[in-house]
Amino acid sequence: MSVRIQRVSAIQKESLSMPEDKNLLQMNREDLRSLEDAISACRLCPLSQSRTLAVPGAGPAPARLMLVGEAPGREEDLSGKPFVGRAGRLLDAALEQAGLDRSEIFITSVIKCRPPNNRKPLKKETTSCLPYLEAQIKIVRPKVVCLLGNTAAAAVLGRQGIQALRGRIWQERFVVTYHPAAVLRNKNLMADFVSDLERLNSLQDK
Ligand code: SF4
Repeated sequence: MSVRIQRVSAIQKESLSMPEDKNLLQMNREDLRSLEDAISACRLCPLSQSRTLAVPGAGPAPARLMLVGEAPGREEDLSGKPFVGRAGRLLDAALEQAGLDRSEIFITSVIKCRPPNNRKPLKKETTSCLPYLEAQIKIVRPKVVCLLGNTAAAAVLGRQGIQALRGRIWQERFVVTYHPAAVLRNKNLMADFVSDLERLNSLQDK
């Protein structure tokens, strides 16, 4: 089954169902692979000209939990895998402290190709790329989506300000916490970051 990328006015709220049916599981994997192929070949914005590899994301489908970052960095651009650089190693440590298993989480970002010099994504780049995230949410059907940092929060919720956004559930499935790169720059945020991830642990089981 091919994945049709559609513009939707808002990311739809869908309840998680973990399919028992093997055909459905297979369909999820095929949909995800089709989507990854589309992302890898995408030329919808100028970032396609400067990237080494697009970084669609990684993880199981379906998954109860999805993490959404901002955009690939240098190591992600070279490897094609999400969160494998310094921020990724910090994320791994924080997930472990929170009792979460990375292999059970679908991890991606709002922008799938690295912006030059790790600059913030432009509005038009976000607009071009957001349908891929919307499609991923439909296929992966996470119960909880954790938006890491202001870029992800602004793209999905249209809101910014991590301090104000933390600690609440938005549109029944979205939560917001710091981006791991921000925690790298300010280690004082680590305790709150781990505490937010611990909360995900309990939310995904509700
Ligand atoms: S950033 Fe997104 S929209 Fe732009 S080329 Fe990459 S995949 Fe396509």
